[in-house]
Amino acid sequence: MSLANHHILITAGPTIEPLDPVRYISNYSSGKQGYAIAKACVGAGAKVTLVSGPVQLEAPKGVTLLSVKTADEMLAACEAALPADIAICVAAVCDWKSATTHTYKLKKRAGQETLLLELTRNPDILATLSRHQSRPKLVIGFAAETENHIEHAREKLNSKGCDWLLVNDVAEGSGTFGGDQTHLRLLRKGVEGVEDFGTLGKDEAAEALLHAITFLLH
Ligand code: C5P
Repeated sequence: MSLANHHILITAGPTIEPLDPVRYISNYSSGKQGYAIAKACVGAGAKVTLVSGPVQLEAPKGVTLLSVKTADEMLAACEAALPADIAICVAAVCDWKSATTHTYKLKKRAGQETLLLELTRNPDILATLSRHQSRPKLVIGFAAETENHIEHAREKLNSKGCDWLLVNDVAEGSGTFGGDQTHLRLLRKGVEGVEDFGTLGKDEAAEALLHAITFLLH
């Protein structure tokens, strides 16, 4: 099935939030799932804009790659890429950034045993796109949960304002973060119940999502 004439905006990878010129806060996101989805969407004929944090992956052929570091940059790149028909937010965006941008390297003093960092909230890109005046027709989020997956995901679906939420299990030993496999379950706004994709490779999971999208559109 074809997604020709559709513009799909995808966020992927981690964000990194600087503490000083040589240090940052981040997470273990590999970007594999977002890149796999971008590849599947290009394969289906879509125009794809991939807004990516720093990862060790090559952009799939045919996507427009916008490389960013921080959540603020990721949001700005997403808004600049609008309008889009579909937004798929896969990025593991840091919830927090340093309240102060230190232009010098933070020093440890002799005898200093603790360091207090003040952090402030980052923008929520998925929630912003979901409520944007140029809102894509279909906005999809991902949730990584370690327990009470469905309950937390249902809450997130409502609070973020997106249409679909894919929840995956990142409990210890699941291997999802950085790994090649994922167990995705799809929740839709206004629809009770859950569609279980089962445990799949990330490329296969991307194809399963693409199938759900094309089924909705055609
Ligand atoms: O809030 P949480 O990080 O669990 O939500 C996950 C979903 O929200 C993902 O789709 C992620 O890409 C998106 N998100 C975002 N901006 C944030 C935090 C999360 O787009 N600041």
